[in-house]
Amino acid sequence: MSPGVITVFAIIGVLAGMGVRPIAFALSVPTGQPPRTSCPRCHALVLRRERRAVVAVLVGRCRSCRTRIGVPPAMVEVVLGVVFALLACRQSGVWVALACCWLAAQGAAVALVDVAVRRVPNVLAVSAYAGVVALLAVAGVVEHHPATLLRAVLAGIRLVAFYGLIAVASRGGLGMGDVKLAASLGTGMG
Ligand SMILES: [Zn+2]
Repeated sequence: MSPGVITVFAIIGVLAGMGVRPIAFALSVPTGQPPRTSCPRCHALVLRRERRAVVAVLVGRCRSCRTRIGVPPAMVEVVLGVVFALLACRQSGVWVALACCWLAAQGAAVALVDVAVRRVPNVLAVSAYAGVVALLAVAGVVEHHPATLLRAVLAGIRLVAFYGLIAVASRGGLGMGDVKLAASLGTGMG
């Protein structure tokens, strides 16, 4: 891809990082609990549609008690900016590159939540899979590679089966969240 397109991808990556940060904060709760919207220390509301509240999450600190919220400022944004640019360098097609970038952004959210509460939320596993399949379907039509989606979906099914076997054999050593996530990872790799 041209340097201009790669730069656009890098900017999209930074913006994606700004979107990932509040999602990861909201979903970093134990299984069965609703998404959180307030500071874990002083319980001040830090996540709602008002700009001031969202800024509190973006800068990584509660505005009331200054407690750290999530990863340090700009970290996830810079990482995704670089990753998106590298993925754009490696792919010749825009839509396949977008599918890989979608997977990277969802993976970043999953990683942040997994580190915080040791789980993979279903909503992230489902959105990762739905997004990568939809973008690869568009790639198949627009970039005239109809076999791309079929090959990718089959790869996803194979990886789910493989992870499923490991989960059963390890008796809980590998969680079902990881098995669900294997569907989108396998599809993306395929
Ligand atoms: Zn606070």
